[in-house]
Amino acid sequence: MTTPVYENFINGHFLKNQTGDTFAVKNPATDEVIYHVEIADEFIQNAAIESAKQGFAAWSAMTPIERSRILLKAVAILRERNDELAKVEVLDTGKPWQEAECVDVETGADVIEYFAGLAPAQVGQQQMVGNDFYYTRKEPLGICAGIGAWNYPLQIACWKSGPALAAGNSVIFKPSEETPLGAIKLAEIFIEAGVPAGVFNVVQGAAEVGQWLTANPNIEKVSFTGEVGTGKKVMASAAGSLKDVTMELGGKSPLLVFDDADVSQAVSAAMLGNFYTQGEICTNCTRIYVHKNVYQQFIDELKTRTEQNIIAGDPMDPEVNLGALISKKHQELVLGYIDKGIQEGATLLTGGKALSPASAPNGYFVEPTVFVDCKDDMTIVREEIFGPVMSVLVFDDEDDVIQRANDTHLGLAAGVFTKDIQRAHRVIHQLQAGICWINSYGNSPAEMPVGGYKQSGIGRENGIETLDHYTQTKSIYVGMSNIESPF
Ligand code: NDP
Repeated sequence: MTTPVYENFINGHFLKNQTGDTFAVKNPATDEVIYHVEIADEFIQNAAIESAKQGFAAWSAMTPIERSRILLKAVAILRERNDELAKVEVLDTGKPWQEAECVDVETGADVIEYFAGLAPAQVGQQQMVGNDFYYTRKEPLGICAGIGAWNYPLQIACWKSGPALAAGNSVIFKPSEETPLGAIKLAEIFIEAGVPAGVFNVVQGAAEVGQWLTANPNIEKVSFTGEVGTGKKVMASAAGSLKDVTMELGGKSPLLVFDDADVSQAVSAAMLGNFYTQGEICTNCTRIYVHKNVYQQFIDELKTRTEQNIIAGDPMDPEVNLGALISKKHQELVLGYIDKGIQEGATLLTGGKALSPASAPNGYFVEPTVFVDCKDDMTIVREEIFGPVMSVLVFDDEDDVIQRANDTHLGLAAGVFTKDIQRAHRVIHQLQAGICWINSYGNSPAEMPVGGYKQSGIGRENGIETLDHYTQTKSIYVGMSNIESPF
């Protein structure tokens, strides 16, 4: 059976490369190649830059309200085509349909809608200085590059293009080589909605194509989502032409469960924050610190619910709530971490093995895995695993647990469960993380800024401030009287 071959999306249409080089994309739940994609060769790369230049000229000349109107049409199309797009995400990522159907497209569309609404409201300043005055304009940056990870491919493309396009920039987006189709679908939708050709381009390929984007002097900004190590390379390369950067990187986030917490609610949060999207979420609370007074109750309920309520299998089955990991290589990496946890003395409460469900026997599944009696210096407690592996630790002192929670170079997210309102805020204010939850975990509405402290990132996505990250301020001084000159 022949599989489709997708070309790069440049200047409003598909464009064939010259080398003929392609890569294969597999469905992680079946281990089967589902389509091929052409790699962006030099011809495509040059065409992408020319296209984005022309796109920028046309798009930035439109008024914010005109841009907003067009983007809102794209939002409507995204929502109309929810199920088709959700299926693309399930087949590319291996995540369960029951998630993609109500989260992936929806949360992407929300962000474009949010920034489309904000764009016409973005204003400059004006101030008198004596008889003269100055005013400022919020001008777009130019061509922005987006580089995406594989866990939420369409959502990431929306989160990067929403503010960039609303502010009048053009975009060249490179999705992960593992999940390239969602961004192509978005590019088609933008064209259908009336976004001019060249405003949103998609180039395909692995690290080399990403490197080219980060080094290209025609590109003014790079917004990157991926691992900390890759983020450092991207930033170093972007420094060569002093590009603006936004970095959405990895985490090893703590969840603190105090002894006055609703334990069942805390278990729900811990399970969501470790097993949703089979654990492949950057903000996951992979270090769960539980007060000694409720530790046994917490792990008893956690074990029961993990063993009884998780259904792994064909991700398109609406009953399935645990999908396949992105690749065989990643499955092996996650299983390697589990082995390391056992070797270093953590107690395996449940899980720990690869899974081969009857409805998807060749998929890259890993059992939802919980380690208890973990110590702060264990590898599984220190390193991001990006799979369904939870580490549970015990604590008995508030100041001590805050210090332990902060003892990491990462700072993406954190959470606290307690019914004591003063403790909730006191603790959360001391946690070194950019995205925090109290008696909740994982919600990320378009209105709320998200991004990391420490090595988890730079800049923010979503929320009002992000629009500023896609504009530059021009100050204009206006002389109202004769110039006093000594010459
Ligand atoms: P990677 O860092 O491996 O890759 C991210 C993207 O960068 C991919 O498109 C990749 O291409 C590309 N890339 C790889 N090397 C380079 C390079 N040298 N220069 C430019 N681009 C490059 O991350 P993953 O895709 O493995 O995603 C998982 C990671 O993403 C986790 O660490 C997770 O925490 C983080 N993440 C962070 C989020 C946040 O908002 N903070 C959200 C989601 C994920 P290719 O894959 O095609 O090789």
